Amino acid sequence: MKVLLLGGTGEARALAVALHPQVEVISSLAGRVPDPALPVGPVRIGGFGGVDGMRQWLQDAAVDAVVDATHPFAATITAHAAQVCAELGLPHLILARPAWSPGTAIVVASDTEAAETVADRGYSRVFLTTGRSGTRAFKDVDAWFLIRAVTAPDPDTLPADHQLLLSRGPYDYGGELALLRKHRIDALVTKNSGGAMTEPKLRAAEAAGVPVVMVDRPPLPPGAHAVATVEEAVGWVRR
Ligand code: NAP
Repeated sequence: MKVLLLGGTGEARALAVALHPQVEVISSLAGRVPDPALPVGPVRIGGFGGVDGMRQWLQDAAVDAVVDATHPFAATITAHAAQVCAELGLPHLILARPAWSPGTAIVVASDTEAAETVADRGYSRVFLTTGRSGTRAFKDVDAWFLIRAVTAPDPDTLPADHQLLLSRGPYDYGGELALLRKHRIDALVTKNSGGAMTEPKLRAAEAAGVPVVMVDRPPLPPGAHAVATVEEAVGWVRR
């Protein structure tokens, strides 16, 4: 039994630990960050070269099943895996961690809509946590941004008035609250990533009375089989 595990998340690393070594798991990372947290077992790094490249790779490696445990906003790789597995008749599972309940957040469909919301509402000191690829939409918004990302965004994508905070979670409630207060933040912009690692910022924003603009998740590919937990994914692979 050989499984391709599309990763780049804590859940993917936990699944690799749970399956290894009874199941032969090859983890795949995009190669976006220079010093990625590596899963146990064999790892390949870098894109496959689109749908055709992934199809070829799966055939060459004689993979029996694919588990897609990528980030809920990694929609391209998720669409590619769903398409190629359907074509090849390979068992395919998506491990998608549960979304956060938006509560009182302003829910928007895209980074662009989030930027429009910030501009329309006149927020002036924004904590932007949509990641290195999520800054471009805010480039021309007239506000100051505290931008937190794992790796530095391309300078061309940054708004003029900003401070960069390069760090990787998990974050805790006290630290998040202190950050909001220190920088006198008046709006938090986040993706609905889900999970416990970055959730404390939502509770801190609520406590500080800071409004939240939350980018909704892209939909899963039609007909895809998805589970919400590592335990369910282990059960699926073992079955
Ligand atoms: P994406 O937009 O869905 O994918 C863009 C391209 O990157 C894909 O077409 C593929 O290239 C390559 N790729 C993505 N994930 C890959 C993987 N696990 N293994 C091999 N190639 C991969 O992805 P993204 O949003 O840029 O995210 C990239 C990676 O970072 C994902 O693995 C994801 O789990 C992780 N991540 C993303 C976020 C986020 O907010 N998006 C947050 C935390 C972690 P080819 O077409 O050449 O195959």
